[in-house]
Amino acid sequence: MPDFDVAVIGAGAAGLSVAAICAGLGLKVALIERGRMGGDCLNFGCVPSKALLAAAHAAAEARRAGTYGIRLPPPEVDWPAVRAHVHGAIARIAPNDSAARYRGMGVTVIEATARFVAADAIEAGGRTYSFRRCVIAAGSAAVVPDIPGLAAVPYLTNETLFEVEERPGHLLILGGGPIGLEMAQAHARLGCRVTVVEAAPRIAAREDEELALQLRTALAADGVAFREGAKVVRVEAGPALVLEDGSRIEGTHLLLAAGRAPRLDSLGLAAAGVEAGARGIRTRRDLRSVSNKRVWAVGDIADPEGVGPRAFTHVAGQHAGILVRSMLFRLPAKVDYAALPRVTYTDPELAQIGMTEAEAREAGHTDLRIQRWSLAENDRAIAEGRPEGVVKLVVTPKGRLLGASILAPRAGEMAGTYGLMIGRKLPLSALAGLVLPYPTLAEGGKRAAGEFYTPKLLSPAVKRLVGLLRHLPQA
Ligand SMILES: Cc1cc2nc3c(=O)[nH]c(=O)nc-3n(C[C@H](O)[C@H](O)[C@H](O)COP(=O)(O)OP(=O)(O)OC[C@H]3O[C@@H](n4cnc5c(N)ncnc54)[C@H](O)[C@@H]3O)c2cc1C
Repeated sequence: MPDFDVAVIGAGAAGLSVAAICAGLGLKVALIERGRMGGDCLNFGCVPSKALLAAAHAAAEARRAGTYGIRLPPPEVDWPAVRAHVHGAIARIAPNDSAARYRGMGVTVIEATARFVAADAIEAGGRTYSFRRCVIAAGSAAVVPDIPGLAAVPYLTNETLFEVEERPGHLLILGGGPIGLEMAQAHARLGCRVTVVEAAPRIAAREDEELALQLRTALAADGVAFREGAKVVRVEAGPALVLEDGSRIEGTHLLLAAGRAPRLDSLGLAAAGVEAGARGIRTRRDLRSVSNKRVWAVGDIADPEGVGPRAFTHVAGQHAGILVRSMLFRLPAKVDYAALPRVTYTDPELAQIGMTEAEAREAGHTDLRIQRWSLAENDRAIAEGRPEGVVKLVVTPKGRLLGASILAPRAGEMAGTYGLMIGRKLPLSALAGLVLPYPTLAEGGKRAAGEFYTPKLLSPAVKRLVGLLRHLPQA
């Protein structure tokens, strides 16, 4: 008899969901965590970053109150109090993810590093445990790029950023992806000088170009400086980044936000014959290891074949649902990211649901209709003095929504509608016909959808029909 029905390695978003479901179904579950319960999302990721952004947005709102005729003195940033707010948010959520709560569910929580010692056994805290199935949920960590001089210079990652005791004077951020951009705006609005250095030709390289450029303008207005298409060739004391063109940017702090790498280091995968690559643990689309039938992988560390890894907390939750079907109920279940949302939580937020226009073209959709609605035409945006932003829909000629790109304040809150439409393959007419409360920013999407049908509605044939009907007596 194995010691556990299911051994879960890692108590982050993915591992916690899996452990809770398995325990709830009456299985004997071990949850092994070497660091903090809650993993990255709670301790070093989503929660502290959004808490810091909330403080930054409050400062920005105070600064722009004058545009509404409200005169306020320039806001004073009390850095220790901002940190207390950030850590307070973590502390309020922490009990949900705590070892005590999981022990209360009947889970055996082991606070140690787990490593495989056989195809069906792990070692943790000096003891060996056999398992029927093992779920690897060990997550990902910030990539430390191989740049000469970097190792000799103190740098920050998401694991240390929220511990900085004094407000950085000049924060250099290596990487202009979602994490880099969120932290750039947060620090700029909190009064730090910020420079983002991005090797790709532009920031937010994965995102729709039109929206990314508008976001860049908004961040620049907050004071964020950008160096794009800039390759760092050397890091020097300062810290300072030396670029390929010979220029040197010196700051007081350096944050690495140049991508994520799966945490494979301590797992001893070879002992269990679990195949992995640079992107994570290789799994089938049902998240089962391609090489060890007793092993599954979920969350950031999973690299499902054909689709690849995704580093989002909501994906960790989606994976847990797939695992229940595939591992526990032995039902067919597959990872599918067609309707997946992702949000860069800057202000304005950049939300992408499903495919961008470029992704749709890459996927072979050559004939596309692009429906746009600018927030400059949205009554709520105008009333609130925030008319910057756009809703862009990527639609097939037959009116099937493939993707939605939204740049707007709180754009993430609108993602659900588009996820539902894409996931359930609803026609665009469903959105065009939706009755939305007035005035809301969400109306922008409805208007963009409505525009798809306008040429048909105003066609000569329809006009002729209306002309004919005009002569008939009213019933
Ligand atoms: C700054 C930042 C902001 C983010 N913001 C968002 C956001 O707003 N929205 C969003 O959806 N996502 C966000 N993410 C991504 C999100 O945090 C991750 O996708 C999510 O945490 C992944 O969960 P996970 O369970 O796969 O891994 P993790 O949360 O990393 O958990 C893995 C756990 O495994 C443990 N572990 C590793 N190896 C072992 C071992 N051998 N033995 C025992 N334990 C081990 C680790 O200590 C860790 O606690 C953000 C990430 C960062 C860095």
